[in-house]
Amino acid sequence: MMEGISNQLILVTGASGFVASHIIKSLLELGAKVRGTVRSLENEEKVGFLRNLVENPKHKLELVEADLLKEETWKNAVKGCKYVLHVASPFPMAIPNSPDELIKPAVDGTLNVLKACQEEKSVKRVVVTSSLVAVYEPYLPFPKDAEESKTLTEEHWVDGNDENVEAYPRSKALAEKAAWDFVKEIPADKNKFELAVINPGLVLGPLLNKSNSTSIEVIRLLLDRAVPAVAKTYLPICDVRDVAQAHIKALVTKDAAGHRHNVYTDSLWMKQIALILQKEFKPKGFNIPTLVAPNFLVWINSLIDKKYKTVVSRLGKEFKFSNERLRNVLGITPIECEKTIIDSANALIDLGIVKTKTKKQKKTETDAKVENADEKSKELEPEEKERINAEKTTTEVST
Ligand code: NDP
Repeated sequence: MMEGISNQLILVTGASGFVASHIIKSLLELGAKVRGTVRSLENEEKVGFLRNLVENPKHKLELVEADLLKEETWKNAVKGCKYVLHVASPFPMAIPNSPDELIKPAVDGTLNVLKACQEEKSVKRVVVTSSLVAVYEPYLPFPKDAEESKTLTEEHWVDGNDENVEAYPRSKALAEKAAWDFVKEIPADKNKFELAVINPGLVLGPLLNKSNSTSIEVIRLLLDRAVPAVAKTYLPICDVRDVAQAHIKALVTKDAAGHRHNVYTDSLWMKQIALILQKEFKPKGFNIPTLVAPNFLVWINSLIDKKYKTVVSRLGKEFKFSNERLRNVLGITPIECEKTIIDSANALIDLGIVKTKTKKQKKTETDAKVENADEKSKELEPEEKERINAEKTTTEVST
């Protein structure tokens, strides 16, 4: 694979993001020459970690500023590149007030990047990051040919113009569609580059930077017990390291050009995710919610809080995606979901996004327990006092 990418300049858009930073790390590890775009080079919190992704890389990462909504910024960004990985797209935690807040930067941004590529003769192939939400959304009826198998392939599409579809899937479907339409229409006198598309599921796995990612929020909520119970929803999972490899393989694999590629390991119920976390992290003091909320409760919540609306429409629906192209064309065997989930949680803890109990906190809690016991023991019979004193010693020894 290295022959295909060594000494060739590769552009990665949205370098500071969860997925893009993994792609850049993998490319630098392979010794590739990488240029990444960020919105602002001044934002050290978002950009600083990119300079230390790999120790002594063969080629130092180059960073330039570009904004999806500023067409003029892309000419310089793509200059001299053989490959372009267009990963940047808005992926907010909250539902936007207007769908256009997402659709406009996603679609116009993709077109701005592709327009710059058709003017730059050096560009041979572009890989665009779409999503499984551009393939299928679980609140929609199954396409006729998937009713029985409940398995969606790269042949299936969400209609980005359907206003019943949420803003984020619409933005991804419309941006991907715009990219395919664009390459079909490149005039003969312009640079006719190849296009391949990557469609990842819910991307989990280790974060490389402290700024949290929208998809990892699922794991944070469970670790922090920010929710008392889980909804009966099914999530199509993939690992960020597989997503990075898929992008890189899609650059250099001949048969990837002209195709979409689902990146998907398996679908798990939220409860299964919670149980994996509970098994691993309960012994470390975490109290993971594993109770499944009754559907009617989720529905009642949705009447009060609009963020639950999307959950209600997914309740109880089972669906799978085909990952044949990922395995057979890109040659990737997906990382097991259990490892992906545990690695996500460990990264959240290591980066301090989720607080673990420090020795000091544990000690304070124990002291409080002991003081409480002391208070109580004042009012107790002598034998009871003796038992509490013995317990106090064991607690102190065990901390
Ligand atoms: P992140 O939010 O971590 O990264 C998104 C990146 O896009 C950020 O670098 C962000 O820059 C950049 N961006 C957003 N708006 C603009 C803009 N107007 N101009 C320039 N850059 C912009 O998300 P992920 O890494 O998770 O997502 C990366 C890609 O993968 C996206 O296309 C997303 O739709 C897709 N995807 C993600 C999935 C997931 O579960 N994570 C699943 C399927 C697809 P800044 O830091 O400055 O905001």
